[in-house]
This record gives sequence, C-alpha cells and structure tokens, in this order.
Amino acid sequence: MRKFLLAVVAFAALALPAQAQEKAQDKVKVLASFSILGDLVREVGGERVDVSTLVGPNTDMHGFQPTPANAKAVAGAKLVVINGLGLEGWADRLVKAANYKGARLVATKGVKALTAETEGHGHNHKHAHSDRYDPHAWQEVANVKVYVANIRDALTGVDPDGKETYAENATAYLQKLDALEAEIKELFAGLSEKQRRAITSHDAFHYFGDAYGIDFLAAQGAGGETQPSARDVARLIQQIKKEGVKAIFIENISNPRVIEQIAKETGAKIGGTLYSDALSEANGPAPTYLAMMRHNAKTIAAALR
Ligand SMILES: [Zn+2]
Repeated sequence: MRKFLLAVVAFAALALPAQAQEKAQDKVKVLASFSILGDLVREVGGERVDVSTLVGPNTDMHGFQPTPANAKAVAGAKLVVINGLGLEGWADRLVKAANYKGARLVATKGVKALTAETEGHGHNHKHAHSDRYDPHAWQEVANVKVYVANIRDALTGVDPDGKETYAENATAYLQKLDALEAEIKELFAGLSEKQRRAITSHDAFHYFGDAYGIDFLAAQGAGGETQPSARDVARLIQQIKKEGVKAIFIENISNPRVIEQIAKETGAKIGGTLYSDALSEANGPAPTYLAMMRHNAKTIAAALR
C-alpha cells in the first residue's frame, strides 16, 4: 500500500508541468502575521510571492499563541512581516524558537501611532509618552500607504530582481488606496456632530475615527484579551442612553454577546458586522483590505444616518 501511494505521489509530481514546479519553488516565501497584512503583501508581491499567514480570516489576533507548526512556517520563510505596535507580543519568541535568521519587516515603521486608551472613553489620544500603542493602524487608509511602501522596500530587499514589479504593483495599489480614502471621506461628509458616534465590542476603530471624524466607544480595550467587566458594560450603557448613541456594531472576531446585551438594554439597533482585525473568508463581504474598508465604512455610514 505504501509503495502504491509513493508511486501515485511520484506520478502526480511528474504530471505537473515542469515549469509550474519550478515557479512554485522560485516564489519568494513570505509569512505575514495576520490576514490583513497577508493581503497587502499579495497586492505588492503579485506573482513573485507565495504568502501565508499565521492568523487567518475571521480569527482574533489578540489571543494568538504560536505552535511548533508556526515556528516551522517561520523557519521556511524568506521574509516575515508583522504589524508591530505591540500586536504580536509573541513575535520575538517565535522567531527565536524557529531559529529564523531571515529578513523581518515591521509594517507600521514610520506610521504615526496612537496610544492605547487604558481607561475612560474620551478622545484625547496622546501621540507620545506612552509605552502602549494602539496597534490597529490599518483602520486608517493613510497608514496603509506607509505599510505598502514598507512592504515594497522589504520585498525588493529580499528579491532585488523583482524591484520593478514591486514598484509597479505598489504604485497601482497606492492609487486604489487614494480612491478608497476619497470614497470613505465622501461617505461621512455632511453628518452632524451628534450623528458621529458609534459603539463596537473592542477598541479597534480609533484610527478610523480620528481619520474620518467618528467617535468610537468600545466595551473592551484595544488589547481585546479580557471580557469587559459588568461595571464597564453598565457605564457604557449609561453613556449610550445619556448621549443617545444609535449605531452599535458586532465585530467578526468578537463574541457578539456583550453587544447584544447593550443593544437590548439601550434600545440601540445593531448596525451590522464590522471587520476589525481580520478579513472575511473569500466568499464573505471583506476578503481583501479594500473590500473590508468599503464594507466597514458603508455599514457605519448607513447606521449613523
Ligand atoms: Zn484588536
């Protein structure tokens, strides 16, 4: 039986066109920490890269614990891309466990980071003097333009022959990001100050809010690791009632229970599902970064009106 299987495998390998085999081997293996980064690397790398991700679609990034299989994936990569700003606290340990000596990119390098809010629901983000940053920088399109330039340069570093391809792909994608940015700003134009407030389950939308003028409150902090306390939820419910906030949202990566409770107790209507820290599956509404941002912006804008 074993011999038969081996024969089948050998035959299958022979059946593949020689060119295709060669191509798969030649591609630059890139490992990205999560689905949104993986999509950006695919956009810039195109046909030259073979991208895999540690944390896939619809999966919460914050509780991720690397496995030995993940270390193996790291060891086989030519470039490892992480978000940074504290999102992947396990990255150094994983790279060490894999004995990885290849190239690494922190995609947020050069992004103007917001600090994570540890308590209160105000909007006085300090831009310095804190050791905890809000990692969700991809929720602002302008930041992702920085990610894309960083990815282009890192790919060129590990694969200099692809320099022109990466430059062309990045330029084309940056134009799409410009169009996306204009579209999002247009969606939120004309809203009153009072309409510009929304509730999500975890604190992932401050970059989005800062960029497009929406005030986001959340039941749970930017780390997303712990369940919100009953006291936090009660305080948020009071605030929603007092300020008449109407737009509240479920997230693809979070348990909807708290948001459903808040909706029930305040009479606020759930405005839909937002994609915060992960893309949807390929057949969902947010399989790419561009689709995710469009979906989120349209869903939020519709609920605020
Ligand atoms: Zn998050």
